[in-house]
Amino acid sequence: MNWLGIVGHERQKQGMERILGKGRLGQAYILTGPSGVGKRQFAKALCAALLCLKHSHRPELGACGTCESCSLCERDSHPDLLTVGKPEERSEFPVKLMQEFCARFYLKPMVSGRKVAILDDADSLNQESANCFLKTLEEPPLGMVVFLVGERLEKQLQTVLSRCQQIPFGPLVTRDMDRMVDGETKNIAEWNWAKWASGGSIVSARAMADPKVWVILEKVLRLLARQNRIEPTLAEDLVQLAESAGDSGATQRPKILDFLRAASRTFSSLLAPDEIAEPGNFTNQEWVNQIKYNISRQKLLRLLETLGNSGEQVERFIPLALGMAWLSEEIHQIAET
Ligand SMILES: [Zn+2]
Repeated sequence: MNWLGIVGHERQKQGMERILGKGRLGQAYILTGPSGVGKRQFAKALCAALLCLKHSHRPELGACGTCESCSLCERDSHPDLLTVGKPEERSEFPVKLMQEFCARFYLKPMVSGRKVAILDDADSLNQESANCFLKTLEEPPLGMVVFLVGERLEKQLQTVLSRCQQIPFGPLVTRDMDRMVDGETKNIAEWNWAKWASGGSIVSARAMADPKVWVILEKVLRLLARQNRIEPTLAEDLVQLAESAGDSGATQRPKILDFLRAASRTFSSLLAPDEIAEPGNFTNQEWVNQIKYNISRQKLLRLLETLGNSGEQVERFIPLALGMAWLSEEIHQIAET
């Protein structure tokens, strides 16, 4: 992927193009912003340009896409592109993993003229792992460039921020999201809603453009409006939604977190039913209009709090079946009040 061909993020692309064009590339960059907007892809495409055998002297042109280095990048098997991220089951970045990662900086490049690295989950660096990384940055190997990828700027350690140049990313606009899925068949109503509910994350929008998501949202709404007094399958539906994303927690948790965020955005919109709806806003849906006035503001507020708590549990690695059973039980209790 040529980094110039990345959809959206024009300001970030232009800024980096200027830096590369003037030959003023720094040693470490930190890319922060919402998840699923393409920060990692941006870093990866820049790495490919820096490693490219034809264009590495002019990386502003982007990777050629045809040389040996480019084909290794394409297959995610370039020996000079080092990547590391927090293990899924850990809440912080282990220092031992960081030590191993940093030691690899000093190995001789095998294909390209330099080594480059991507450090994911920068939000999870603790003082110890950050110190190890910063120490390596003090005497970096020649030509080494590291891209850190994180979400929230306020979660980054000051010591890390002071040593890295910052590239902040914002949410994607819907036009760019449409360009990204060009050619993929999508139900228009679902896709419009998914884009809106994702808050500008293409990963989340793709995950939410799923008929199963609407089935669950409708069940919750009908429960709250007391149109369905008993809905015993809600917990099962949620677990099935998670399982549809894959076999491991690493793929199932993000799907549920995307769902909880999209559901929160959606139910929040019902608190202001007279607001002019954005295109794709859930409140436009006909079946919502039939039931939303039967749900009290108090119930919606309690539901939003519950969705937030459920998200925190999932982030703290509660077993998903347990977490979804809890969420379902809470929603039933709210419905009964
Ligand atoms: Zn190339």
